[in-house]
Amino acid sequence: MIPLSKVAMSPDVSTRVSAVLSSGRLEHGPTVAEYEAAVGSRIGNPRVVSVNCGTAGLHLALSLAARPGAGESEHDGPGEVLTTPLTFEGTNWPILANGLRIRWVDVDPATLNMDLDDLAAKISPATRAIVVVHWLGYPVDLNRLRAVVDRATAGYDRRPLVVEDCAQAWGATYRGAPLGTHGNVCVYSTGAIKILTTGSGGFVVLPDDDLYDRLRLRRWLGIERASDRITGDYDVAEWGYRFILNEIGGAIGLSNLERVDELLRRHRENAAFYDKELAGIDGVEQTERADDREPAFWMYPLKVRDRPAFMRRLLDAGIATSVVSRRNDAHSCVASARTTLPGLDRVADRVVHIPVGWWLTEDDRSHVVETIKSGW
Ligand SMILES: *Cc1c(COP(=O)(O)O)cnc(C)c1O
Repeated sequence: MIPLSKVAMSPDVSTRVSAVLSSGRLEHGPTVAEYEAAVGSRIGNPRVVSVNCGTAGLHLALSLAARPGAGESEHDGPGEVLTTPLTFEGTNWPILANGLRIRWVDVDPATLNMDLDDLAAKISPATRAIVVVHWLGYPVDLNRLRAVVDRATAGYDRRPLVVEDCAQAWGATYRGAPLGTHGNVCVYSTGAIKILTTGSGGFVVLPDDDLYDRLRLRRWLGIERASDRITGDYDVAEWGYRFILNEIGGAIGLSNLERVDELLRRHRENAAFYDKELAGIDGVEQTERADDREPAFWMYPLKVRDRPAFMRRLLDAGIATSVVSRRNDAHSCVASARTTLPGLDRVADRVVHIPVGWWLTEDDRSHVVETIKSGW
């Protein structure tokens, strides 16, 4: 079977992990600091706060919208977050965990990302935050997003927090710059099957030093690590969570960083092959490609006719496929937020993901193409 995802582990990982295991420092220590600095230099933004999973990173990021800081005004009524339903549930449940309300924005059938026109129509003074997802690592049009938010909120006294879910987007760039450098709060996952993995983990990238300091503290109960806890002479001004990445995760991350570029290159090469070979096949529609962004291709999406038959045909040929995530607005726990989403309706029953990662051989990817060409 050609799997849809695979854990990428650097061969030298056990050396680094063993060193941590015998170091006497498992939770707080120098390895995570070194890992965060390494991630920051790759992304081009040193304000990196590592966490124990991407979902925790989103919880932390959205806590900025749930609890306005000193001097900021509270809006009347419950805080609302505009978000996309076509994503992993880990994007959206942190909104609820922060006591905020979900308002669904439609999906652009061309990109599978948020429909920015529908976003513009739905922004209101009740909007505390906007969450966009770079689905499969295909970057949202961030300049257009900024323009939409600027225009829609020109008359408001507070700009909504914009959070980018970059969980599937390690290595992706927009206008030549990595995601995490375009002025928003960005959250990556380094879960087991993500391109860069720490086993379990993630990190938040912040656009300024003030937000960085606040989230760095909120990640560990609001306590400053360097404070004097022997005499008890310290204060927690903003309470926080218990979301730290441990030293073992840091060691795994440092090892995997060394070869992640090569893995990403292979994802992109395989995707370029599919872009060419799967174009124009009856019953198959590809998603948008734009010149101003370089996707990560965590997986490769197609919109297909008769999805159940397509998936069965590929399974019979030894190729794993998946829908990956159910449209989040269909879950009963968010029934009260349901609304009409015509863009999503157009694609929800057709989207399927096929293997594209570093583990595919040239024979594998040709086999995928030939199987699809043979019909289903
Ligand atoms: C993986 C993922 C998450 C959550 O990350 P975890 O590290 O599993 O908590 C969030 N959003 C998207 C789009 C993801 O793919």
